[in-house]
Amino acid sequence: MELNDGIDLISTAPVNYADDNVAKPLENKPTNFYSMTLEDLKAFLKGKGKEQFRAQQIFKWVFEQRITDVEQMTNLSKDFRAELPNLLSFELPKVITHLKSVDGTQKFLFDVGDNLSVESVVIPSEGRLTLCISSEVGCNIGCKFCFTGKQKLKRRLRTEDIVGQFMQVHDRLEEGQRITNIVFMGMGEPLDNPESVFKTIDVLHSPWGINLSRKKITVSTSGIVPEMWRIADAKVRLAVSLNAPNDEIRTQVMPINKKWNTKALLDACKDYTDKTGEKITFEYVLLKGVTDQLEHARQVAKLTRHIPCKINIIPFNEHPASPYERPADATIEAFHQELSRLNVHVLLRRSMGRDIFAACGQLNSTHKENTATMDISNSKLAGLPKSKREVLAANALEFAAKNAALNAASYDSEDAADNTELN
Ligand code: SAH
Ligand code: SF4
Repeated sequence: MELNDGIDLISTAPVNYADDNVAKPLENKPTNFYSMTLEDLKAFLKGKGKEQFRAQQIFKWVFEQRITDVEQMTNLSKDFRAELPNLLSFELPKVITHLKSVDGTQKFLFDVGDNLSVESVVIPSEGRLTLCISSEVGCNIGCKFCFTGKQKLKRRLRTEDIVGQFMQVHDRLEEGQRITNIVFMGMGEPLDNPESVFKTIDVLHSPWGINLSRKKITVSTSGIVPEMWRIADAKVRLAVSLNAPNDEIRTQVMPINKKWNTKALLDACKDYTDKTGEKITFEYVLLKGVTDQLEHARQVAKLTRHIPCKINIIPFNEHPASPYERPADATIEAFHQELSRLNVHVLLRRSMGRDIFAACGQLNSTHKENTATMDISNSKLAGLPKSKREVLAANALEFAAKNAALNAASYDSEDAADNTELN
């Protein structure tokens, strides 16, 4: 089988603005505050001849108080306040739509400029609120079952686009609610955009920022092996899309396996667990007749035996862009049972947000019909321009497909409870 062409486009070097897929900062415009870590802001202010401790002050105003009107930042001098709007802007990606499910799941569609949009999903579970966040528009890894993989990479998100997803959701939570966990399991491959992803983690983890524990942040990767050290380095949690029981099947469903095979991937996983002492979550998408046999369960158990891990079974969510099917419930259950019998820590959970994702799961024709169905869930959609509705429909489809990934989010947070906090 031919390696997906897109694989060669994967960046293993830090993303830089010479790369056409990264949006470039506009010259002579204030710098977006949300693009910077605390250290970046200190360096930025220093470059403008300002005191560096101002960075902490501004971080506190913005992240703790949610004040972005510089006039209200009363511990800054009057002169500095007058100057600040020329130096910094506080723009967030616009919310195009916000859907709420009866079970509490919420879905957001964001405009990230250049006529592109991404989604985030919020999943409540037992006192936790997990945000599933996107790192790229489209994805070049080209996994055969994935809707995002069908759309080539359109743009790697900037730090402000990713931090922005968090802040916009944060600003819309009900009184007393807060996001407790973040999973990079939305659109895109986080390790294909490491610069923005790890800067975002730095911002959200900062005690001057949101102060989110590193152990509550999970990065999911399809297995860009040379970049995986970054996840251990950042002391965040690792989820790996294993998705197959052996090299032959993995190469068939995830062409990236040709570049970094199962052994290379599992060696990198072992490095992570040795270095951090943390368990890994393996995601395993069950594809009817392809990865769902009992023999496959046995192979998976053997393959992962030496790695402290849990396996998150994700029954495939069907979408029109894929030839694969979801196995019957009995097959899913048998697979689950077989792994349990082999003493594997295995998780399988019902999908959430069915009503806001259902539109897509039920359709197998065009995106337009899909949009129409979505109108039922949210009348606001009807007022959107046609192009936006089509983008939304495509995204809805994407997230219907990824609905199962949301399970992964809950699994992960579930485990966070039995671990001591590092933060
Ligand atoms: N690019 C990263 C993170 C985003 S994908 C990665 O691949 O890990 C998040 C998860 O969604 C992955 O485990 C992937 O295998 C799963 N996924 C993608 N499409 C799916 C589908 N149609 N049904 C079920 N799971 C899917
Ligand atoms: Fe990209 Fe992940 Fe989808 Fe694979 S599963 S195409 S890596 S988003």
